Order: sequence, then C-alpha cells, then structure tokens
Amino acid sequence: MLTNDQLNHWDRENFLHPSTHFGQHGRGESPTRIVTTAKGCYIEDRDGTKLLDAFAGLYCVNVGYGRTEIAEAISKQAHELAYYHSYVGHGTEASITLAHMVAERAPAHMNKVYFGLGGSDANETNVKLVWYIQNVLGRPEKRKIISRWRGYHGSGLITGSMTGLVPFHNKFGLPMSEVVHTEAPYYFRRADPDMSEEAFSAHCAAKLEELIEREGADTIGAFIAEPLLGTGGIVPPPAGYWDAIQPVLRKHDILLITDEVVTGFGRMGTMMGSTHYGITPDIITIAKGLTSAYAPLSGSIVSDELYKVLEDGTDKFGPFGHGWTYSAHPIGAAAGVANLKLIDELGLVQNARETGAYFRNAMAAALKDHRFVGDARGDGMLAAVELQRDPGARVDFDASEKVTAQVVGEMVKRGVIARAMPQGEIIGFAPPLCMTPAEADKVVEVTRDALDAVTGTL
Ligand code: PLP
Repeated sequence: MLTNDQLNHWDRENFLHPSTHFGQHGRGESPTRIVTTAKGCYIEDRDGTKLLDAFAGLYCVNVGYGRTEIAEAISKQAHELAYYHSYVGHGTEASITLAHMVAERAPAHMNKVYFGLGGSDANETNVKLVWYIQNVLGRPEKRKIISRWRGYHGSGLITGSMTGLVPFHNKFGLPMSEVVHTEAPYYFRRADPDMSEEAFSAHCAAKLEELIEREGADTIGAFIAEPLLGTGGIVPPPAGYWDAIQPVLRKHDILLITDEVVTGFGRMGTMMGSTHYGITPDIITIAKGLTSAYAPLSGSIVSDELYKVLEDGTDKFGPFGHGWTYSAHPIGAAAGVANLKLIDELGLVQNARETGAYFRNAMAAALKDHRFVGDARGDGMLAAVELQRDPGARVDFDASEKVTAQVVGEMVKRGVIARAMPQGEIIGFAPPLCMTPAEADKVVEVTRDALDAVTGTL
C-alpha cells in the first residue's frame, strides 16, 4: 500500500478536485482526507478516523454505506456484461428492469425514462427534450428556461446557468441568455417580516408571472425547480407555494421540470418529492438516490403526454439525435435495481419520515434558544440550521468571518460530518435514510457543542 505521504504528494501534484480552492490545495494549505472504507452512516479514513456522515456523501448514499446486496449486484453484472450500449433499441435485463421500477415509483402519468450518468447531464437532456418538444409542436421560439435564484441543477453550461447560485456563475460568463431566474421561495428571508407564508407564496407566483410577461410567454419553454430548495440552503417551500406556482405555468403553457436529484426515492419520507408537495410535473430529473451513488446513473422521467410528442417527432423527423455512450450503463442499472429493492425491504422511506422528523425536532429543540441561530428547518431526512449575528434584528454574519465553516470544522473534530452550504451561513444535514434515532441524537449533540465552541468567542 502507498504511504500517506506519497498519496498526499500526488494529490497536491496531480489531482484537480471539483469545487476546491486549487491554490490552497496545491500548496498544502487546506485539509484533505483520504477515505478508505465505510459502513452504515460512518466513513473511515486512512488515519483510522471514523466519522458519522450526516450528509450521506453529497446527499446521495441513501441506503447507507457498505451494502453487500448492491456490491454483489454490481460484481455479478461486471462479470456477466460490464458494458453494452443502449442505442437503437439495445438493453440489458438490468436497464429494462430499472426503467420499469422507476416508472412504478413515479407519478402515475409518467412512464418513460431516459437514462444518463449524473444529475447535470440529466438536466442537460431535459433542456434538449424541452427544445425538441417545442420544435415538434411548431413553436421553436419557446426556448427560455426559468429557474429560481438559489436553485441547484448542476455544473454544466446550461445546467450551471439554471443553477441560481452566484459561485457557479462567477468567472464562467454564466448564466447563458436562454436562462432567466425568478425569486427563491425563501420565506425566512422575505422582505416583509409580517408577511404570512401563504402571502409570500402568492408573492412568488406574482413575481414569476411578472417575469413571464416581461420576457413573453411565447419565449418560455419550461420552468425547472427542486420540490424543496437543496444546495441553495435546504429550504422547504412555504405553505401554498406549489399550489400558487402551477396554475401560472399552466396558464402560460410552460412545461414543469421537477429536479428530484436530491428528493427522489425516499428522502422526503415519500417515494418522490413531487408527490410529497402535490406537484404534477411534465419531466422529473433523478440521480443520486437512484443508485445511492454505488455507481453513477441518472434519468429523466417523461410524462405520457410529452412522450406522445416525442413519438410524433421521431415519426416525422427520424431518430432522436441525443445519446451518451454510458446511457443506462449496465453496472449503474444493476446497482439501481438492487438499491430500489433495498429501499423497499428496509423500509427506508418510512424511516426517512419517522427518524427524519425525530432528528429535525431534536435539532430545533436543542438550538431554538441559541443566540446565533436564526432558523432550524427541514423536511423528511433533510435539515438546515441558519446562523445570524443577531437573529432578532435579522442581521447576518459577515461572510469573511466564515462562521459556518468553523462550526463544521469543529463538528468533524467531534466525529460528525455536516455541510457548510455554498451560499449563506447555513449548516446542512442530509443523512443516509437508514440513520437511527441514537445517531440522530449524536448529530444534534455535536452540532450544539461545535456551535458553542465557535460562538463562545464571538
Ligand atoms: N440537481 C440537483 C437538485 C442536485 O442537487 C445536483 C447535485 O447536487 C444536481 C442536479 C447535479 O448532479 P451531478 O452533480 O450528479 O451532476
């Protein structure tokens, strides 16, 4: 085995890490961790440090680490057939079975799945589906995509543009002109503190309609949104939000894509987040929880109505000119089949609902009186704690103080991984769906201790 020194050297010399400060990493100024193994909710590194991963990797290891059922399914698939493509009607038992299993779990009006590799490429596919469909329907100018500030939809060109977080645009010349952003349904940050949730939802719908009218409904192809804002701050929609938004879209004939890369397959305590919030989408993006990240796989689930347009399009114009070499990769598909079976067998949707509620209530109870906690929120097995300098006066910490980064650093010292969310002073939690109440207690206790350790000096 290579020594840690050797690996550290190569890591600094040769590895360009995603979402990383290259300079600090290269010069050895920022911490690194070489992860070697994991089981349940815990990961372990080469120094023998064990950490409770309360973010499930990047909210993706939904069934927990070290599941032999999935490892064996992957191994069996790799031995029998590691790869064959899925172009022009080719498939494998795993990819066909998975397509059927996904359709069974999707809303009843959605029965067709196009597979990709990750969330970003699935959303890239979705934009092309929208453009193709609008063209087939004879309205090629209906091309723009509306997304929300603070939405996250990936890191590609159009997907990074749809992402409504400034760090993902800076210095890339994004967003592209086809993407326009509307207000985030971020009730905690409403301008008028006296506004009710319902009134704020109506305000967001009015803002959306204003934008549509300003741009021209005949130029807008689709609206994309996560059922619950994820990377933008783990912000559940305010009461009445989706009931207010959907009629606006229908009125202006704008397709609805729900990006369920985080919320799909149990995280909300329901199989799909769209169902959880009463949303009727035209397209759903899936990734992460589809395989619990045991192998890369994503998908776009398409409604029956849109499928008819796609069918009509290929009848008129020939085969659909869009495909990835690794679409429906057999190893990803085998992981997906084993993963979805496990979610059912272990009752993880129910555990996400029950232990998720226990966890969020315990977190809120432990932190509600803390002088720097502005908000403790979440839904299902997702939670966030937002820090402020003076919550009563709605005064934020200065970003340069890096308070959340420090808290998360203190948490790691105490054995728990949480995520400093990329924009704002927000500690994010997205544990594996198999987390137990005892593990939830530990996460809460460590969060409180770490917060006290950092803020004790402020
Ligand atoms: N959509 C959502 C809602 C996500 O949270 C993510 C990733 O976190 C993506 C899309 C992009 O997925 P990927 O990183 O697999 O490209």
